Amino acid sequence: MDVYTKLDLNADNKLVLAELAAFVGEGAAARFKQLDIDEDGKITRTEFSDAFGRIERELGQSAAISELDEMLQRVDAYNASSEGVAAELSSKGFSLGQLLDFVQEKCHEQKLISETTTTLEVVRNIVIPETQAAGCCYADTLPGGPRTPQTLMSHWWGNTFLHLVRAICEHAAGKNELFPHMYTQAERAKTYWLCIFAVNQHAAACHFMGCSCGCPKFGSGDVKCQVDKFPRVMRRMSSHGLAMDLQLRTLTRVWVLSELETAMHSSPPLATKFCGVVSTEILERPEVPSVLQAEASFEADRELILTAIASNEGGVAQFDRLIQTMALREIALMRAFAFVLRGEAALLGAELQQRPELLDSADSKGRGETLLMRAARYGHVPVVRELLERGADVGLATRGMGFTALHYGAICFNPGAHADVLELLLQARAEPGALNCFGRTALEESVLAFGEEALGTQLLLGATPDAQQAVARAHAATGFTPQPRDAELFAHGALRQDSWSRPDIVLSIKQPIDGEIAAFNPWVKPIEFGTVANEIVPNYPQARTLVTASQRFAAYVRYRWPLWEFTSLVLQYTTENDPAFYRVDLERGELRQINRGDEKLTVKQQIYDENSVLTKVQCSIRMLYP
Ligand SMILES: [Zn+2]
Repeated sequence: MDVYTKLDLNADNKLVLAELAAFVGEGAAARFKQLDIDEDGKITRTEFSDAFGRIERELGQSAAISELDEMLQRVDAYNASSEGVAAELSSKGFSLGQLLDFVQEKCHEQKLISETTTTLEVVRNIVIPETQAAGCCYADTLPGGPRTPQTLMSHWWGNTFLHLVRAICEHAAGKNELFPHMYTQAERAKTYWLCIFAVNQHAAACHFMGCSCGCPKFGSGDVKCQVDKFPRVMRRMSSHGLAMDLQLRTLTRVWVLSELETAMHSSPPLATKFCGVVSTEILERPEVPSVLQAEASFEADRELILTAIASNEGGVAQFDRLIQTMALREIALMRAFAFVLRGEAALLGAELQQRPELLDSADSKGRGETLLMRAARYGHVPVVRELLERGADVGLATRGMGFTALHYGAICFNPGAHADVLELLLQARAEPGALNCFGRTALEESVLAFGEEALGTQLLLGATPDAQQAVARAHAATGFTPQPRDAELFAHGALRQDSWSRPDIVLSIKQPIDGEIAAFNPWVKPIEFGTVANEIVPNYPQARTLVTASQRFAAYVRYRWPLWEFTSLVLQYTTENDPAFYRVDLERGELRQINRGDEKLTVKQQIYDENSVLTKVQCSIRMLYP
């Protein structure tokens, strides 16, 4: 390996000052200037060899060679040191885009990862086998190679992998969709460090997971060991995230606690952002474990880390308090949103009494809605009132979509609350002229959703400048033509009332298998057409309606998941003991009733079940019955 390759720690063919400083020692800045001929802050390979040519001309060949020798010795010494191992390890990051592509491939195409697959299983079934031949870390095998990471993500291997991925998405972009195209270029470019992809598992503990590579292993305390270098890796990061799991087990793992401790004592300290979701039980009765309850795979690690924590100022008690504060704040925010969803005005009020700072917080798991926007969207009048009385900001808009609370009030899920919500918001001086990303005022949304005659619309008519123009535009826009923007709006949980009258119903969409997607609704059973299995349902008006609705639905799905290819849609409805299935051929517009005895379906059903539900879209069955 030549000197340049050794110096270029993250192998990006650009030597920066920090990389050179690791080897040159004193005078690194001066030497850097000498080597960076075009003064762009990066030394390329050409610049490097040109500079050595110059040294050779100035000092003679032997002096140049001895300088090079000296540098090589430093490189070797460094690479053999703990700091060198940490430097190498901390260069093995990945971008959010690479991670989402990984999910796309392993989850959607190869079906190796489902909603229940744990991170440990991903390591055992994907990371280890796919890196065995090369004996390297997984980041080295990613298309495009490893990236220099900004954020270390702490997590627990027992957590489900997709929870971890969603937590990273949330950290990067304040939303948790698993599809690359839902993110901007800048969001996809954000970089992360995860032990499972950075550590060379074949030099660590792959033999515990059935790997027979026979590579030498290095345990804690060994200079070549990677897993005890995480604190050194952490010191090279510019931020820190923590992926919670449903039961908060993450906070009982000693290596996670060690990372938290290192983040706190880095200079400057790194604030840890808690991401991910916790269970309803934890939401209702959050108990953040003490560091003394921590668990480790190896007792020695546990003792070492606890001793380090205890030796800090304030010791264990102080550490526990800090972790609790961080975790409880995040949990309290989730709980506040849960109260809004359930319309619990009094409980929400009590929560905000204790934590007034949550009042205008955005939901980082959804679309950046505030509590007020969410309450307006669901039409919980007492909650809207409670929030406004506490001074919630009516002027805020969501980051991506530009929806204000008034826009959400205009497309309120609860028709009975439409006018009341809008009246409260207008009284609180919400701006009726505010435009969302579609260039629409709340009035226009209200006309589209509830019509011009609705009481709520009338309130907006009186308050909105240029009201008649907005109404005219709304009339021109009525009638559903699946447009990308409509689908985006749908993704935003804000489709028009004509298809959203039952927001409590969750439709699960499953990924396409053999050109077919499935929409599963567990509560509602539609009309019986009285046909036998696999017979085309005659052209009853109801059957036509179902086909048309399915085509509209498919248009939305195609927009949202453009990589999916499918030509038919299975609608599955299950009442207690009586599941019903319909298959809609989307191109021919044919509807067939199918039953559980359909062999092909049974096989497919198993595949679907194994791969579990890919995503849940809150929408109404009315969407299928316009
Ligand atoms: Zn191995």
